[in-house]
Amino acid sequence: MKKQKVLQSLLIPYLILIVSIVIILIIWQARTFSSFQLDLAQQNLIDRAHLIKEVVKSYFIAGKQADMNDEIKNITRYFDTRITVILPSGEVLADSEHDPATMENHGDRPEIKKAFLGNTGISIRSSSTLKKTFTYTTSPVIIDNKVVAVVRTSLPLNLIDKNISVVIRKFMTAGLVMAVLAGAASFILVRRLTYTLDELQQGAQRFASGDLHFRLPVLKSSEMNTLAESLNQMAAQLDDRIHTIIEQKNQLDAILSSMIEGVIAVDTDERILSINRAASLTFKVKEHQYASKSIQELIRNSHLHMLIHSVLQHNTPVEETIVLLNGEEKYLKAHGMLLRDAKGNTIGAVVVFHDITRLRKLENVRQEFVANVSHELKTPVTSIKGFVETLMDGAVNDKEDAHRFLEKIKNHTNRLNSIIDDLLQLAKVERQSEAEEIELKKGLLASTIKSAITFCEVKAKIKNISFEFIDKSEHEISANFPLIEQAVINLLSNAIKYSNPASKIFIRLYEQNNHQVIAVEDFGCGIAAEHLPRLFERFYRVDPARSRKLGGTGLGLAIVKHIVQAHNGHVNVDSAVGKGSVFYIHLPMKQ
Ligand code: ADP
Repeated sequence: MKKQKVLQSLLIPYLILIVSIVIILIIWQARTFSSFQLDLAQQNLIDRAHLIKEVVKSYFIAGKQADMNDEIKNITRYFDTRITVILPSGEVLADSEHDPATMENHGDRPEIKKAFLGNTGISIRSSSTLKKTFTYTTSPVIIDNKVVAVVRTSLPLNLIDKNISVVIRKFMTAGLVMAVLAGAASFILVRRLTYTLDELQQGAQRFASGDLHFRLPVLKSSEMNTLAESLNQMAAQLDDRIHTIIEQKNQLDAILSSMIEGVIAVDTDERILSINRAASLTFKVKEHQYASKSIQELIRNSHLHMLIHSVLQHNTPVEETIVLLNGEEKYLKAHGMLLRDAKGNTIGAVVVFHDITRLRKLENVRQEFVANVSHELKTPVTSIKGFVETLMDGAVNDKEDAHRFLEKIKNHTNRLNSIIDDLLQLAKVERQSEAEEIELKKGLLASTIKSAITFCEVKAKIKNISFEFIDKSEHEISANFPLIEQAVINLLSNAIKYSNPASKIFIRLYEQNNHQVIAVEDFGCGIAAEHLPRLFERFYRVDPARSRKLGGTGLGLAIVKHIVQAHNGHVNVDSAVGKGSVFYIHLPMKQ
């Protein structure tokens, strides 16, 4: 349906109404006026007939009826009315406008009939004599209770109509002026109303387009002003609510994106609703580029698809471990649950991911460690058991054999002791480091290194190895000096073990990049490059048999690494097979 403008839809009916009222008024006025005019004219005619009747009566009494015609004509000059005198026979005795001899019998005229009955007669009809419409009034001339004649006065209606049409024209002019004035007034009124409505409409449009800071002005009409105030109030409330919603959404986004756990929300068609930073990093997808994409399109992981599918299908929470193989291996613990709206209706599913890769790795390391420890302990224990059994089988009776076996049992026991000592040492350092219980003191590293050198000198002398300590450090450092001494002793012991006899070991202390560096250099067998990355792992050995023969536990470098890490430092090694190795300890100068 075509929509009309308010101006048009109000103004047109208004104008039609005004014009109709004016027309009805004019018609009503004209009719009232015409009938009033006719009544007036007829009353005049009756009055005149009554007057003339007396003149006619005198002529009858005098018996001069034949002279009456001149008198009647004479009277007409004053009255502007046609006068006719009719005898009871219907014959016209006198007429002011025509010759009575030529006039037909008037006895059948209704007004005349009524007058001969002694009453006043009135009628409106066309005159057959003058061919015009007249209003006639009659009055009986009574002498001695006998109607001797009838006086008729008449007036052509067009005379009255002429007067009426002049007045009607005036009415119409007045009506037209009234209609124009009323039309103009209604136009102004409607225009004012539509102007206000336009203002309200424009304001409402600005609100609808999102400009909620706009305010409608104060309007003149109290109803419209109330409406404008209500609209302004509504916009302010809406603005306030939108502001609150945006703030809450931002807070939620901030919480989601600062979460370590990954979060993915999908709708019931498995289309992405939201994906936080952690999840987008884990699955290597771009945040905010998920609009209307399905989870299958965005993330290629069948485990995840199945999990979401299962949550949506069975309406139950699901917990699973998902393995990611793109790049480095990652283990994720995924908890999937239904996503419900405020009314409790299911609107999708949400999956929260915890990265358990580190835990898994730690678990693997722990299991590997337990296996290694068992293996390391089992070897000497098995040997001891074997020697004891041999002794019990009779070897104990041969003094020389008994001594040899007991010597071996002693060596293995020492080895067990060393492993247990190293394990305890390692566990202690790890525990203290994790609990941040390592006690730091300020001091010079040089004296600690010297003390370690002194400790190792006896062993070195056996292989005729000499130490050279070059100290280029200037500053004190915060460290746990007994632990650092232990680390240096481990490095020196290795250097002695894997050096050729009669060689030299250099120990250097210097400062570099805010670190104090302890470098232990030997010129022994060296280590092949492929072993270097794993050298500091527990129980890792380049040549296990050789290590064991030399009394190594495979824990020395692991202890060094942990001691240094407990000081927030790091270790590394340079080595060339057959040429020797340099082990470095880097300790930060500011803890
Ligand atoms: P071990 O008790 O076997 O010496 P470590 O943890 O101290 O255990 O050392 C691990 C392995 O690193 C050793 O078995 C050895 O093969 C190699 N290694 C350590 N230090 C040296 C060195 N200075 N020269 C050559 N190889 C070394």
